[in-house]
Amino acid sequence: MICLGMESTAHTFGVGIVSDKEVLANAKRAFVPPKGGIHPREAAEHHVKYAESIFKEALEAAKLTINDIDIIAFSQGPGLGPCLRIGAIIGRYLSQRLNIPLYGVNHCIAHVEIGRFLFDLKLADVLTLYVSGGNTLICAYDQGRYRVFGETMDISIGNLLDVFAREAGLPHPGGPKVEKLAKKGTNLLDLPYIVKGMDLSYSGLLTASVNKFKEGNSLEDMCFSLQEVAFSMLTEVTERALAHTEKPQVLLTGGVAANKRLEQMIHNITEEHNAKFVAVPSSLAGDNGAMIAWTGLLHARNEQPLALNESLVKPNQRIDDITISWDV
Ligand code: AMP
Ligand code: MG
Repeated sequence: MICLGMESTAHTFGVGIVSDKEVLANAKRAFVPPKGGIHPREAAEHHVKYAESIFKEALEAAKLTINDIDIIAFSQGPGLGPCLRIGAIIGRYLSQRLNIPLYGVNHCIAHVEIGRFLFDLKLADVLTLYVSGGNTLICAYDQGRYRVFGETMDISIGNLLDVFAREAGLPHPGGPKVEKLAKKGTNLLDLPYIVKGMDLSYSGLLTASVNKFKEGNSLEDMCFSLQEVAFSMLTEVTERALAHTEKPQVLLTGGVAANKRLEQMIHNITEEHNAKFVAVPSSLAGDNGAMIAWTGLLHARNEQPLALNESLVKPNQRIDDITISWDV
């Protein structure tokens, strides 16, 4: 079976193509806001503008035509409504036009599933830390669903880094620039560390960091301190989830997984708990169509396709809303 998956939850429009065994194509393009943050309508316009060329690129890379596709999958949620709707509309159209089944995929589940596929991890063995521009969550499978062990109560870790960077005059996306500057920081500044139970809060840390920067602290020290505090919060919650669940594997994924300092901190706790650590490589860790295609295939093996009236987008869908139909 060949599945084509579309990602369009936020800044990235991606088209991935997978077979039962491998990723055949993973074409994508990310919207970069001219200034400020991501405006949902502008990002959606970007997706419409580039959809045709991304489709072409993916089909060429896979050496297939659209008629070779057996299944269509799209990101159904969570995400920005106008962006999600572009993928859903194209998905519905192709499914009807080609008379092939349509599946809606939860974006967060797709991040975990592509990691499990890459490293051949069992469903019950994995604790995942998923850190991106839109999401921050620690989850593991238990009794039919991915359960959330901890999550942000306000903004995501990627958003924290990007907005701080923007306020400090750095271009988007800020995460990689913050990482680079942090390497030159030496002075750990006092910033709010907010973990409540198993959940985290980053909005106060963002405000405090912007204020401290405006007070005249060096950008290098700010980036260093921001990373140390924000990543320590993630590490604390991940470690507690690991101690509680005793999972043998920890999977790090999402765009922020590219950060070497975060990787090092999470790697350290896995060693202390005798768990294996794996990080998804960045081409498949950031938002992409291949993860949607792969997860679409998992749905297709065990479930009926979506009827048209079930294919509405779900901007607020949670990872724990979904019943998992596969068991390996
Ligand atoms: P995603 O939403 O999964 O596509 O990830 C995008 C987010 O990853 C943005 O917030 C980026 O700033 C962030 N990001 C990318 N590379 C890095 C890095 N090296 N360090 C920290 N954040 C990063
Ligand atoms: Mg994502």
